[in-house]
Amino acid sequence: MDSITDNHNAGLTDGMHLMVDALKANGVKTIYGVVGIPVTDLARHAQASGIRYIGFRHEQSAGHAAAITGFLTKKPGVCLTVSAPGFLNGLVALAEATVNGFPMIQISGSSNRNIIDLQQGDYEGLDQMNIAKPFCKAAYRINRPEDIAIGLARAIRASLSGRPGGVYLDITTEMLSMTMDMAEAQASIFTPIDPSPVLSPSSTSVNRALKLLSNARKPLIILGKGAAYAQADEAIKEFIEKSGIPYLPMSMAKGLLPDDHPQCAASARSLVLSQADVVMLIGARLNWLLNHGKGKKWNPDAKFIQLDICAEEMDSNRPIDAPVVGDIASSIDKMICKMEPFEISCSQEWRRMIDEVKKVNADKMRIKLNKPTSPMNYFNALKVISDVMSSHKDVYIVNEGANTLDNTRNIINMYHPRLRLDTGTWGVMGIGMGYSIGAAVTSGKQVLAIEGDSAFGFSGMDIETICRYKLPVTVIVFNNDGIYRGDGVNQGGGADPSPTTLTPGARYDRMIEAFGGVAFNATKTVELEEALCAALASKRPTLINCVIDPSVGLESGHIGNLNPHSSIK
Ligand code: ADP
Ligand code: MG
Repeated sequence: MDSITDNHNAGLTDGMHLMVDALKANGVKTIYGVVGIPVTDLARHAQASGIRYIGFRHEQSAGHAAAITGFLTKKPGVCLTVSAPGFLNGLVALAEATVNGFPMIQISGSSNRNIIDLQQGDYEGLDQMNIAKPFCKAAYRINRPEDIAIGLARAIRASLSGRPGGVYLDITTEMLSMTMDMAEAQASIFTPIDPSPVLSPSSTSVNRALKLLSNARKPLIILGKGAAYAQADEAIKEFIEKSGIPYLPMSMAKGLLPDDHPQCAASARSLVLSQADVVMLIGARLNWLLNHGKGKKWNPDAKFIQLDICAEEMDSNRPIDAPVVGDIASSIDKMICKMEPFEISCSQEWRRMIDEVKKVNADKMRIKLNKPTSPMNYFNALKVISDVMSSHKDVYIVNEGANTLDNTRNIINMYHPRLRLDTGTWGVMGIGMGYSIGAAVTSGKQVLAIEGDSAFGFSGMDIETICRYKLPVTVIVFNNDGIYRGDGVNQGGGADPSPTTLTPGARYDRMIEAFGGVAFNATKTVELEEALCAALASKRPTLINCVIDPSVGLESGHIGNLNPHSSIK
């Protein structure tokens, strides 16, 4: 403290203070992190200067909170980590943010360069910037306080421009305590102008796309999380409604238009993929989640239009007949402006085919949802949640697991954009508490996390963070005693539990009691309903242990085909 005061009196500042000043000047409202050497004081000072600091129990969750903040706000979320292990823990979230296209910046303290570069074994010495490079869009290191403003501007631009993603920003221990003239330091701070520039598509590309669409007999629009990120909600709705074309929302695009919209084809997915003759992708990639746009799920003669900001995404999995490279807001606006002469419409026959399949599938689903069982299964439990949530349509839903993910995605309708936050492009576990905290902090709204018991384990300790900051988060753990299901057997006949088995009868609800949160153990649908209603009414941190039959659940959920050697089908 003394040296800080001395610096101040001498008209000096240091790297740590300047870093916070630059973050603040660039509109960073929240830092998510875990403190330790050498960034503890940076967090203290950030808090003192009015930036909200949310301290986590694990860097991966802090990183996920930053990533989802980026997705929700179109500004990079910021995560702060300590050197070596803390940095590495955060890297998972940084890699996922990059794969998902969410803007975030992981700022990490690092040890002394001269010792690291000669590999002399410093405390937590690791060549962090070079390790981070393959996991993010860009990685930079700031070695001198006079480079802070430029370093941060580069990080902000890299995270936001083009396809958004994760950026790594290394701040060295030496740099944090290096001094600099206060007036010069303040003068160096700036905010980058137009860090996510508009990219308007060419008229040729838009006309080509509209022409293709106008010749379609069975057109289909697929909305991806890029469309949700773009916040062009009204324009997308206008284009879909004016054209009358059915649409399929990818998981995190659910709610961009309400799931009960008459043009929503979510419950006729197999039909529309196998029959559509012209498919227009809006901010959705033809990756594994769409079977790469080829193979037996798809109409082999389908033609593709793709709206994406990233030119090299085109033809990545199959030829694209009408690429439209631009940001989604500009692209959709241009398509709306130019659509009239093309007379784009959708045949009644195609719509009727889809409606019939929707009805058959809805009837089948209704039977499953209404069938009582003891213990509960995914369907009757999710029916309760769905009914309660239909009068809480503005609550965020965070969702991860295998069967818990697949079934929740299918059963819980979304009505507003960007409220469904889930495992994303890699379909991975571990986002639960991080996304819940990020969404609650960023929006001030309520969050319901619907978690498989195994999925919850990857970030469960951060329920302490939820309680400490008194966030309005309710966690429901679908507890079927295991990974996929809880009835696995040790095939060697030994006493150890099987690889997929977790503690039978575990009481996850008791965990939150340790931190002053509200706990429920629900073994019947009425108990689940009461617990969820109470949780939503109280807005207090709540965990509901929802007991599910251990013998229900498919191995790997809906992607068992990716698990070819599984002995249990
Ligand atoms: P999903 O998994 O929901 O199908 P993806 O993550 O595969 O979605 O695809 C999102 C796509 O959206 C990415 O290819 C990304 O480049 C693109 N994208 C993201 N933001 C924008 C934007 N503002 N304008 C245009 N394209 C965008
Ligand atoms: Mg399970």
